[in-house]
Amino acid sequence: MLKTIFRKQIVAYLSALIISFVFLGIVLSSVFSSYLVNQKRVLLTEQCERIAQIYTQYQFLYAENFSDRTLQIERVNMRTRLSKELDSMQMYMNANCFFTDKNMKVVLPSEEIDFLYGEKITEETLKTVLQREIPIYRGTLSGYFTDTQMIIGYPIIVGENVVGAAFVSAPMDDVNKTIKDMIVMTLLTLTVSAVVAFIMVYAMSMTITKPILKMNEHAKVIASGDFEKRLYVKSNDEVGQLAESFNNMAESLQNQEETRRAFISNISHDLRSPLTSMTGFLKAILDGTVPPEKQNHYLAIVLDESERLSNLANDLLDLNKIRTLDIELDISRFDLNELIRKTVLMFENRVTEKNINMVVNFANNTDYVRADYDKIQRVVYNLMDNAVKFSRENGEISVETTDVDGAISVSVKDNGIGIKKEDQKKIFDRFYKGDTSRGEYTKGSGLGLSIVREFIKAHGGQLRVISELDKGSEFIFTLKSEDQQ
Ligand code: ADP
Repeated sequence: MLKTIFRKQIVAYLSALIISFVFLGIVLSSVFSSYLVNQKRVLLTEQCERIAQIYTQYQFLYAENFSDRTLQIERVNMRTRLSKELDSMQMYMNANCFFTDKNMKVVLPSEEIDFLYGEKITEETLKTVLQREIPIYRGTLSGYFTDTQMIIGYPIIVGENVVGAAFVSAPMDDVNKTIKDMIVMTLLTLTVSAVVAFIMVYAMSMTITKPILKMNEHAKVIASGDFEKRLYVKSNDEVGQLAESFNNMAESLQNQEETRRAFISNISHDLRSPLTSMTGFLKAILDGTVPPEKQNHYLAIVLDESERLSNLANDLLDLNKIRTLDIELDISRFDLNELIRKTVLMFENRVTEKNINMVVNFANNTDYVRADYDKIQRVVYNLMDNAVKFSRENGEISVETTDVDGAISVSVKDNGIGIKKEDQKKIFDRFYKGDTSRGEYTKGSGLGLSIVREFIKAHGGQLRVISELDKGSEFIFTLKSEDQQ
């Protein structure tokens, strides 16, 4: 994996580097070369114009054909100026100069290029100088020069006539050399950058792939059922986040595994105890240990236990539905007051048995809601069941509805044994049963409130508990009233 990521990255980086450097090289060298050529042209044109002027004056002095002494001195001065000019051109610009007559025959070349003397220029571009143009020529002048020259021409005009031309030529190799140097520099920089990129990409892929490889190993460990181990990745980037998510996943798997184990052990316990007592009683009845007059008493206990088992099975089925798929609500419109009335009536016997004072108060005559009838009935049933179960003899239970900001709030309140502060958060957990030492109150599966919570959550409602130990508990849930939905 390291190799693949590294290879992919290095290919991407190097291609990007090469493309940008080639592009940069082409752009820079073309910009530079046109700048340098232009500079050279401007300089040569200036020089050519100057020597052409000196030469024109020199020609003029000759044309006058005077023989007096001042003129002769003047001519000598001109000649010296011209040769000085040519010398400095040669020295500073490596440029040479030659003059032609009006037939383009070289009449005066500078020392370095005396091989041109007497030659006739045949290059068409250069001939345009006779039409008083300033030609710019690049080439070897039909092979006279060994390397490419830039040649600029300037007409020499005496009176109205073009009597010849002055040319300045300079080799192009310095421009070429600069471009070559630039290409070499670009290649060198490219190589250095490529090496740096290689090292950086390698280091980077190591930081990415190492934790990924670690995670891979870890995933295998988790797959084999060991959820204990955690990953340690320092980085704050996406890889770090991935590792964190990975750890969270492992933790939640571990929690789930623990819940599963607790679930199975709770279920086994809850199944075993009633089954053991039922089997015991039935055996005793069958083998005659229990006298016939007491059989009904024990059969009633067996019936009681079997009801408990069937309740537990129902709770488990409900919980399973909640766990496996999102709770599906079968929404209908109904009067919540009616539902409460009917549900409370189911407890008539138990309430009378315990001599509990039952109070029911509704905020309105009818309170229509749009909800799942069966599930809300289950909620009220479970809350009532707890209220009755945890009430003392001669206690009081009140069920009340109130309007709160477009919602209906239902409270089921008892003055029974109450719930310890530290237990109040746990009571909604699955299988949580309060203090097991309190004998008669431990009947139950510990699933009732978790079912209540899930059903209310599915309706988008809220559920809370207010309770004080030994004083009583109040469970309140809210449902949106019909016109708010
Ligand atoms: P159970 O089947 O044990 O009633 P629940 O989930 O309904 O399971 O309740 C969990 C625990 O919450 C109970 O065991 C009990 O300790 C506590 N509890 C619930 N309702 C009441 C109440 N009205 N008064 C006192 N304790 C309560």
